Amino acid sequence: MSIVLQAPSYVRAISPYIPGKPITELARQMGLPVEKIVKLASNENPLGMSPLARKAVEGALAGVERYPDQFDLIAALAERHGVALEQVVLGNGSNDVLDLAARVFLAPGRSAVFSKHAFAVYPLATMSAGAECIAAAAKNYGHDPAAMLAAIRPDTHMVWIANPNNPTGNFLPQAEVRAFIEKIPAHIAVVLDEAYTEYLAPADRADTVAWIRDFPNLLVVRTFSKIYGLAGLRVGYGVGRAEVIDLLNRVRQPFNVNNLALAGAIAALDDHAFLAASYESNRRGMEQIIAGLKRLGLSHIPSHGNFVTFEVADTAGVNGRLLKQGVIVRPIGGYGMPNHLRVTVGLETENARFLEALETSL
Ligand SMILES: *Cc1c(COP(=O)(O)O)cnc(C)c1O
Repeated sequence: MSIVLQAPSYVRAISPYIPGKPITELARQMGLPVEKIVKLASNENPLGMSPLARKAVEGALAGVERYPDQFDLIAALAERHGVALEQVVLGNGSNDVLDLAARVFLAPGRSAVFSKHAFAVYPLATMSAGAECIAAAAKNYGHDPAAMLAAIRPDTHMVWIANPNNPTGNFLPQAEVRAFIEKIPAHIAVVLDEAYTEYLAPADRADTVAWIRDFPNLLVVRTFSKIYGLAGLRVGYGVGRAEVIDLLNRVRQPFNVNNLALAGAIAALDDHAFLAASYESNRRGMEQIIAGLKRLGLSHIPSHGNFVTFEVADTAGVNGRLLKQGVIVRPIGGYGMPNHLRVTVGLETENARFLEALETSL
């Protein structure tokens, strides 16, 4: 009998994550020079990394022979959020934190609820823990709290919430998120994944970390991969009650965040000029892309992130023609959205290249 069949059926049932196509891969496939390729497929920061973070990372190169010490980044985050050190857990990207939460609260015989078209890592983490996925019906592609509450079963131990959601960009007003969490039974862990929270308009923001005082079952998860521009360094974090963080730390690998990532993240946290420039660049680029999509007669889902998802008649054909012109966007058929493509907001020139290429690809 094949060794493959010895893996638990829930592992064999997992569909592998499909990442955005790397620039180097498209360059090889199409014989295009790397400089000619525009990648708008993975919600990365088009301004690159914060200059302060770059300096800190370079400085941390002296010291990579030592195992990392997470203390300084945990202390900086605890201060930022007004919580105790024991309430912060670091991850190798926030995906690592999502996986830790699943391993702590899920197991075979248990289930987790998320919204249809929600982030792909929720089913991955749920299935890796041997638990069952329950995808609740969406409302205009976004989270529908009533449908998610109705989907909860006696064996449900986790509810995943992405706000704003990826790949749809939908945003649920903070008051509705809070009212939703209030209705989730207290024995169910709630993971509130806020990878794009820094891109929210000031009026839409809320101190969701403060909600932990009222909800002992809440874990708020953030990342340095998006507005902070450190996707390749892999660092994210979760904030929750000390007793919840203690459980996550038990299954966490001791040195899950490396020295360079720790140094870069600490510096990035305080690079206010870079954060403001990234926010502004995204706001303008979003307007540029939406105006372009409208000009082409394409409908899109209003987005609160650094990306926008739009509808085309023939996604495979359009995507193929974009790739031939060196423009990488993200097909999201794997999210149950076969008629949509997702584009990340890039620099003005990149957005223009995308829109020009799209016009000839429809
Ligand atoms: C990009 C993203 C993340 C961040 O992943 P990292 O592992 O921190 O790079 C988390 N959640 C959602 C919904 C995302 O889109």
